[in-house]
Amino acid sequence: MDSLLGMADAIGPANVLTASDDIAPYAVDWRGAYRGVPEAVLRPGTTAEVSEVVQRCAAEGLAIVPAGGRTGLSGGAVPQANGPRSVVLSLERLNRIRDIDIRDFSLVAEAGCVVQSVQQAAAGAGRLFPIQWGAQGTAQIGGMLSTNAGGIRTLKWGNARDLVLGLEVVLPDGRILDDLRRVRKDNSGYALRHLFIGGEGTLGVITAAALRLQPALKRVETAFVAVPSPDAALSLFGRVMESGADVIAFELCQRFCMEMAAKHGVGLRMPLPLESPWFVMLEMSASHASVPLREILEDTLGAAMEAGEVTDAAIAESDAQRLGIWKIREDYPECSRKDGPAIGTDTSVPVSAVPTFLRTIEREMAERWPEGRMSAIGHAGDGNIHVSLHAPPGMDRSTWMARASEMEPLVNAVAVSLGGSFSAEHGIGQSKRHAMASHKNPIAMDVMRVLKNALDPSGRMNPGKMLP
Ligand SMILES: Cc1cc2nc3c(=O)[nH]c(=O)nc-3n(C[C@H](O)[C@H](O)[C@H](O)COP(=O)(O)OP(=O)(O)OC[C@H]3O[C@@H](n4cnc5c(N)ncnc54)[C@H](O)[C@@H]3O)c2cc1C
Repeated sequence: MDSLLGMADAIGPANVLTASDDIAPYAVDWRGAYRGVPEAVLRPGTTAEVSEVVQRCAAEGLAIVPAGGRTGLSGGAVPQANGPRSVVLSLERLNRIRDIDIRDFSLVAEAGCVVQSVQQAAAGAGRLFPIQWGAQGTAQIGGMLSTNAGGIRTLKWGNARDLVLGLEVVLPDGRILDDLRRVRKDNSGYALRHLFIGGEGTLGVITAAALRLQPALKRVETAFVAVPSPDAALSLFGRVMESGADVIAFELCQRFCMEMAAKHGVGLRMPLPLESPWFVMLEMSASHASVPLREILEDTLGAAMEAGEVTDAAIAESDAQRLGIWKIREDYPECSRKDGPAIGTDTSVPVSAVPTFLRTIEREMAERWPEGRMSAIGHAGDGNIHVSLHAPPGMDRSTWMARASEMEPLVNAVAVSLGGSFSAEHGIGQSKRHAMASHKNPIAMDVMRVLKNALDPSGRMNPGKMLP
């Protein structure tokens, strides 16, 4: 096709994929729930090439679906099935770290850098890029920012949004918005970067970001703890937050989740027998080696045991054990996927409402879908709990989806009624547009549409995503 040959001139023929085998991985999402075939996958290697590609797509009337590591869980990085003619614009070749300034505690990375490579570059410079989650070895900086990813350390350092100082973005008309400054203070009008962070590629293509770094962690202590209930976990959370240490992760996991991890995980070792209904994985840190972190953790857990909030605990004795605990958490989504079909959610509530949320959901699930198997796991320290309802063994996905189709709206409604969100960290993509229509404030929706129309009047940037 002529237009795509034109693309080959712009970015090199090897970077214009049109063969169906080459396109196939870009035409399905991580969960296998969404499929949509682009006319081509385009892989520009520089910001100028991204701009060129975007302008050529505009001239051809082609829609653009930006793609990073394609680990998104909302179907955002695949074209809409039966949507308009589209290309996938993969950022994978924009993978340079442009600069690390250790005195400034900042780093400039291109959008296609894998998150883990940025963590490693920061560590190599004696700094910390603190965001952490299971897909960090594949997810890219552009995808991380476009979904405003969270992960296990949100309670300490915030979501991806909180780690950004500046952005470089190619707008839907091909212009390059260079706002890649690293200043901490800049009140010169609207902070435009925040439109593109969490924008899921609907307003433009992020090509690079100036990211905030932290001092390296000098001491870390990690524990895997058995707790009798979410209420007990909440009390424990209060204790560790008041302990004097920095709490950098506090995850709550139902036993069923740990059983799935034990069953399907490769090389996972459970630190405790799976005899408790709930478990907590927690991590504390200190930026100075002299802080008696181990003592603080042991004292805190000891007091929690006396109060009946903790029934058993294993503290990591080595880095390998610590990484082993986080491997259980990080490999869990894959273990759950292997276990069979499940309907998932991505809700958040105020931290203090987590026990009420879980009690309500457990009761409703047991009444409505007694044959289903509920799981709950999440970042309890920031109130983001992922509740899923797993099909009875042997039931296929479509049968289960049809039978329990009301499960997700129910969980969303309970979260919203408690002051929470139906979309905590995975974004809207294709999977939660119906929830936007049900729960998003109508005035907020109006403002979002005005912004979308102003920046992308022909609606070519990631159509069929986010906005209902
Ligand atoms: C095992 C597993 C565990 C996970 N755990 C977590 C977790 O704990 N917390 C969490 O928040 N998420 C989690 N996720 C979800 C996912 O990893 C994140 O949403 C991640 O940020 C997506 O990054 P990506 O590069 O894969 O983006 P993609 O999936 O490629 O894209 C996601 C969205 O961003 C858009 N996009 C991508 N790159 C750009 C760009 N450069 N410019 C503009 N738009 C762009 C896409 O169009 C799409 O809408 C998990 C996923 C998996 C598979």
